[in-house]
Amino acid sequence: MNNQQFQTPIEYLKGVGLQRAEVLKKELQIFNFGDLLKHFPYKYIDRTRFYKIKDVQPDMPYVQVLARITHKEIIGEKHTKRLVAQAKDDTGIIELVWFQGIKWVEKTLIPGKVYVIFGRPGFFNNKAQMAHPEMELYSAAAIKQKGNLTLQPAYNSTKKLEQFTLDSKGLSKLIAGLLEQHAKDIHENLPTYIINRFKLAGRAESYRNIHFPNDANQLKEATYRLKFEELFLLQLKLLKSKLQRVQKFKGNIFESVGTCFNEFYHHKLPFALTGAQKRVLKEIRLDTQRGVQMNRLLQGDVGSGKTVVALMSMLIAIDNGFQTCIMAPTEILANQHYQTIKDLVGDGFIEVALLTGSVPNKARKVIHEKLEDGSLNILIGTHALIEDKVQYKNLGLVVIDEQHRFGVEQRAKLWRKNIVPPHILVMTATPIPRTLAMTLYGDLDVSVIDELPVGRIPIQTLHFYEAQRLRVFGFMKQEIAKGRQIYVVYPLIKESETLDLKNLMDGTEVMGREFPLPQYRISIVHGKLKPAEKAFEMERFIKGETQIMVATTVIEVGVNVPNASVMIIENAERFGLSQLHQLRGRVGRGAEQSFCILMSNHKLSSDGRIRLNTMVKTNNGFEIAEIDMQLRGPGNIEGTQQSGVLDLKVADLTTDQEILQQARNCVIEIFDKDPQLALPENQILNRAFQTKNAGLSWDKIS
Ligand code: ADP
Ligand code: MG
Repeated sequence: MNNQQFQTPIEYLKGVGLQRAEVLKKELQIFNFGDLLKHFPYKYIDRTRFYKIKDVQPDMPYVQVLARITHKEIIGEKHTKRLVAQAKDDTGIIELVWFQGIKWVEKTLIPGKVYVIFGRPGFFNNKAQMAHPEMELYSAAAIKQKGNLTLQPAYNSTKKLEQFTLDSKGLSKLIAGLLEQHAKDIHENLPTYIINRFKLAGRAESYRNIHFPNDANQLKEATYRLKFEELFLLQLKLLKSKLQRVQKFKGNIFESVGTCFNEFYHHKLPFALTGAQKRVLKEIRLDTQRGVQMNRLLQGDVGSGKTVVALMSMLIAIDNGFQTCIMAPTEILANQHYQTIKDLVGDGFIEVALLTGSVPNKARKVIHEKLEDGSLNILIGTHALIEDKVQYKNLGLVVIDEQHRFGVEQRAKLWRKNIVPPHILVMTATPIPRTLAMTLYGDLDVSVIDELPVGRIPIQTLHFYEAQRLRVFGFMKQEIAKGRQIYVVYPLIKESETLDLKNLMDGTEVMGREFPLPQYRISIVHGKLKPAEKAFEMERFIKGETQIMVATTVIEVGVNVPNASVMIIENAERFGLSQLHQLRGRVGRGAEQSFCILMSNHKLSSDGRIRLNTMVKTNNGFEIAEIDMQLRGPGNIEGTQQSGVLDLKVADLTTDQEILQQARNCVIEIFDKDPQLALPENQILNRAFQTKNAGLSWDKIS
């Protein structure tokens, strides 16, 4: 099928008609032939073999046995009325039950005859049993002819669809019909040399076999082919847009490393850089020398030292006569960057300023002037930085902290801040799995700081149940006696703000009783407070006037209080994994051993247990991100929701990392050799850009 035929409206398929088309569109978003073809089975029912009755286990999904009916009878009255039969092979007996259609089934069952019995096994009174099995009189010839021994596809359907006989079976028939009529029109869309190199099955054959495989091997080959195709085409589009951007936008060239950088590096930097920091700096250095605009994502766990890498990159920009800015998601964070950077380099030689919503007009005016005459070197702030009235003389590098809060549009806005768009470095402390980065940010280059500065004492994470609360209180007192401060965090549940607040207030009350004045002082911060009140409470904690800060998750981003070395997370089972990790990152910033204590109910869901165990087991953000993706699926990872890039039909980013890597490498190779896709053997690939191909919501990306 070429792209055109993929787009044929579904009502034109034989056996569909207007009414069923309506339901298919509403219930499954199947609008055209291509959509139906891409409604892949969610599982297969193994009818490739017969099981012996003794091997039938209750946890098997579906099994097929070959057995002789030895007995049948209708028992019970009215609503307990049922048909019970027994079937026997040379290993045992299985009981068969029907609650409906009793009369009809009873007539068709012939004792003494062998049947193919197919159904979901269960156990009743310790005996193997099957309710409402499919029965078919056995004959060797019939089995062969009907191809009974196959993998049977199972499709997602809905109640509504079932009313129109479009249950799994009905859908299966439609798809079979579509393939029968149009399989010959499904054209190959990958170059022959790629097919050969990766030993891919043909396209038409793969569509057929993913729906109706004869055996596991066929299914494997078909699935591999279609996954490869999907990921390959996505990478082709992502990398092409990157290529186009590179061709379209020239980049500022930071020719040399000068005094600003060297002065800082040799005389002011208070520690030695980690290997990872050095490596990333080199990557950025290379990017900014090539005359191509840099778009780089810098991933690194909380505390891995991203800021200093950003700062040193900015110093290189300044050395080359450019201005720079850092954009943070909150004022608190902007403030903190400002303090840090001012302490490190702001000694009159390099001009640093802070621009946030709360900067008064007069000061703002001065900043604007200095930006325009070029005397301001580093501007730090929030969204205020990209307002239209903020004009730079020569903006060379933009650093964006905490990426997931900034969308593509905001990035694009920055590109317009200079005739030659500035280099962009995006930093995130929420590592995302490699595969996700490759797809979601496939058009960015990715750097990773995967090493913490030496001498950092790893945070100890412990999990306690409610029953152990007194122990936890005891521990808190002990730490406070040592002069430490403590965060106590409550979850914020969107559904019920009042309940949240109640939780927090109840908790605070208990805390207040356990940690009374004047010996102990507590700060309370929650979403209902006015910004000024919030700031006041935070300030008290930051200054060390209070020893405990009870809060909802508002402290997630921001505050750096090195003396706070204990983080207690209440109802920890209610937090997502990445959020827990993010929260934990608030401690472990000082010289002392830090602790993260996860409090939970005794009753935990299995996912909840995995989350808490993972937290106890590892401090590695990348490991945590992988597990998070496995638990929640790639579509639920922070920052991916509206991307549309993840509208994958057959590939799965959690399990198909290897295929993705192969496909991406292959695309990179192709563009290296043939950036215009002009070679005859690559012509076929240009078609991928011609129509809005089914299954790729490309237009949302670029
Ligand atoms: P993040 O990656 O979370 O932004 P920061 O840049 O805030 O981390 O760094 C965390 C702390 O570690 C800062 O106090 C910083 O000065 C310090 N730091 C950064 N790099 C190193 C290093 N190589 N050796 C020691 N301390 C470092
Ligand atoms: Mg940071």
